[in-house]
Amino acid sequence: MISSNSYHYFLVYCLRGATVSYTVLVPKSAKKYDIVVLGAGPAGLTAAVYAARYNLKTIVFDMGFGRSTWFQNYSNYLGFPKGVKAMDFRDLGKQQAENLGAKFHMEEPVEKITPKNDGSHTVKTKQRSVTADAVIIATGIEDVMPNWDENYEYEGKSMYWCILCDGHYVNGKRVLCVGKDADGVDMTLKLRQFTSKLTFVAEDFSKIPMRELAKLHEEKIPIYEGRFKKVTGQPKGHVKSVTLALTNGQEKTIATDAIFHRLGIQPYNDVAGKLGIFLDERGLAKVDPSTMESNITNVYVVGDMRHDSLHQVHAATYSASRAVIAAYQKYYAKKFHVR
Ligand SMILES: Cc1cc2nc3c(=O)[nH]c(=O)nc-3n(C[C@H](O)[C@H](O)[C@H](O)COP(=O)(O)OP(=O)(O)OC[C@H]3O[C@@H](n4cnc5c(N)ncnc54)[C@H](O)[C@@H]3O)c2cc1C
Repeated sequence: MISSNSYHYFLVYCLRGATVSYTVLVPKSAKKYDIVVLGAGPAGLTAAVYAARYNLKTIVFDMGFGRSTWFQNYSNYLGFPKGVKAMDFRDLGKQQAENLGAKFHMEEPVEKITPKNDGSHTVKTKQRSVTADAVIIATGIEDVMPNWDENYEYEGKSMYWCILCDGHYVNGKRVLCVGKDADGVDMTLKLRQFTSKLTFVAEDFSKIPMRELAKLHEEKIPIYEGRFKKVTGQPKGHVKSVTLALTNGQEKTIATDAIFHRLGIQPYNDVAGKLGIFLDERGLAKVDPSTMESNITNVYVVGDMRHDSLHQVHAATYSASRAVIAAYQKYYAKKFHVR
């Protein structure tokens, strides 16, 4: 069988050899895959492994960074008694999918998905277009972090957002909690399960209901209104102190072992949004919970970009497996004419 690419080069070769010289434009058709995956985090990688194990022709595009590229250790994912670094987890998953035949284009974000009349889709990056029967969107989200020059050095080393993931690391330690609303207060109170040495800071108290701030007061948790001015950390990324520029004009330096933040999320939903996938008020995709299929036929959304995700690795891998199984059922029915 001749692939669309080799057919393209074959035509160009024949025309070059022709005695009559004229310019012919040969349309280069998009390469055809069974499944295209957007994102090589835990969700996208699981989708690639499951799809490749079904012998589906699979291609993965990734942007190069996301929630799974910070410094965290995954210590609550089964099978790693000492935990596993998020980046190592990604590398292992990519190797596993590649060994099974999945193709990868890292640092090549997808820009657009266009539905075709037959239910398949064209997926476009700056470098290429491919078509596929099913598209799995696993583009993830980012957390808004406290803002200072080197904040990226700290996320996952001594700065966290997820109590379920990282509360255990701050057992008995001093924690500076950063919030902007009732959710931040809730996070601070929940951290009492791990430590009593808590301090709360927010840039603007007027955005937090008084009754929420009163809860912190009742628990004798010190509260400050202000913004981050300076952070010291030794070794790099391991916080020792945070200096706040307080709203009242003063400065306050707080010695701390960790920072927990709850400042909101930014979903990577550009492509999904342009395609017309239904998004909730946070910008997360609404999907059928049993198949992960969105309102756009044959487009599935998995991982943290899903509206009811648990924002955990196991939830990302679970949703990806469901999506591939659902996509495969359609593929199988079409290929073997099963009703
Ligand atoms: C500090 C920290 C600690 C954590 N600790 C834990 C823990 O202990 N346990 C746990 O279970 N979970 C933990 N998590 C959460 C976990 O990392 C996420 O739940 C998980 O990464 C979600 O996987 P995902 O594949 O949905 O998204 P991501 O891991 O964010 O991957 C999405 C990928 O999509 C790519 N992408 C985005 N847009 C495009 C595009 N247009 N085209 C192509 N690719 C694109 C990105 O580059 C990215 O690589 C932690 C997260 C953080 C930040």
